[in-house]
Amino acid sequence: MKKTLKDVSVEGKRVLMRADFNVPLDKKHNITDDSRIVAALTSIQYILDNGGKLILMSHLGRPKGEFKSEFNLNPVAERLSALLNRDVKKLDDCIGEDVEEAVYKMKEGDIILLENLRFHREEKKNDAIFAKQLASLGEIFVEDAFGTCHRAHASTVGVTEYLPSVAGFLVQKEIEYFEKVTKNPDNPFCLILGGAKVADKIPVIENMLDIIDYLLIGGAMAYTFLKSRCKGIGASRYESEMADTVDKIFEMARKKDVSIFLPCDHVVAKEIKETAETKIVDENIPDNWIGLDIGPKTVDNYKAILKEAKTIVWNGPVGLFEMKPFSNGTKEIAEFISTLDAVTVIGGGDTAAAVNQLDLGSKMSHMSTGGGASLEYLEGKELPGIAALSEK
Ligand code: AMP
Repeated sequence: MKKTLKDVSVEGKRVLMRADFNVPLDKKHNITDDSRIVAALTSIQYILDNGGKLILMSHLGRPKGEFKSEFNLNPVAERLSALLNRDVKKLDDCIGEDVEEAVYKMKEGDIILLENLRFHREEKKNDAIFAKQLASLGEIFVEDAFGTCHRAHASTVGVTEYLPSVAGFLVQKEIEYFEKVTKNPDNPFCLILGGAKVADKIPVIENMLDIIDYLLIGGAMAYTFLKSRCKGIGASRYESEMADTVDKIFEMARKKDVSIFLPCDHVVAKEIKETAETKIVDENIPDNWIGLDIGPKTVDNYKAILKEAKTIVWNGPVGLFEMKPFSNGTKEIAEFISTLDAVTVIGGGDTAAAVNQLDLGSKMSHMSTGGGASLEYLEGKELPGIAALSEK
């Protein structure tokens, strides 16, 4: 078991916390969605309430190792200050003498936000000297950025060499839910996979076949599976290079007694456009038509299986939900599982975005804050940013 914030005393200590403030910005540098900042408030408030001196660090965007003013963290400091109703001192760098001086002057309850970590090339290289410089600012390290836990960077892994390192409340919840569903789930366990690319999801399927009972497939990836079952898929997305792998997955599932369900009807169009003419087809998709969402019969079938499940993990939208005519399947599935008693875990990235768009996040047991990190967890990989935390 990894140590969490509750296992250490932060009183009077300089607490260095890695947060995920990689928020979307518009052209004028305004934050368009502050949910990542809001998500970090529980750990932040706890540290402040318990007398810690809080030093926050994050990356923002892809500045590629150099200073780029469009990626500075000033808007984050302003928003955080407004949310907490207290001063947040934003520094111009994340290492160096000026930073050290400001940090050593801190009093209990003060908050400093360091500048974008990725203005330094050394961050992503997990450079030991850079990590040591960052670590020297704190006395305790708190990891609260699940979205970067699958990367061994200086601010996620490097600093843990030098400081007692614990999970913040966000990461603690991610670990609890992902450990539960990957190691000790309640059955029946239903995994829903969708999204665009088959290749991205194969390692998840291979790992989870041992533990799940049902696999429901939707999204563009379903068409490579359907073609392997000799269904007509028209002009839908098909990954020919994955055909053999998909055959092997069916074979593995059969041996492990896992039932794989595929769409039996589809919302199709001739072009991928909001205004495209659409129709619903059963089974085989005619030539020149593209499958862009699961149809109503598939929705009903999937609901009947989901209703029996005690654990549901969902990664990847079941249709091209960003466009209204192809969003119904994802909407129906999200609404339905939000009403169930089961443990419901929603992978980060697009799936979480779709569920949030429907305002259903609070009705799920757990909404992951990391797209890539949640996939790697389901693949059975050890996440370096979590592995590096201190054991209880
Ligand atoms: P992924 O990153 O692989 O999970 O893919 C997510 C993307 O897949 C989202 O942008 C969805 O809109 C898209 N998607 C889902 N179903 C389809 C489909 N049938 N055709 C094309 N794109 C789809």
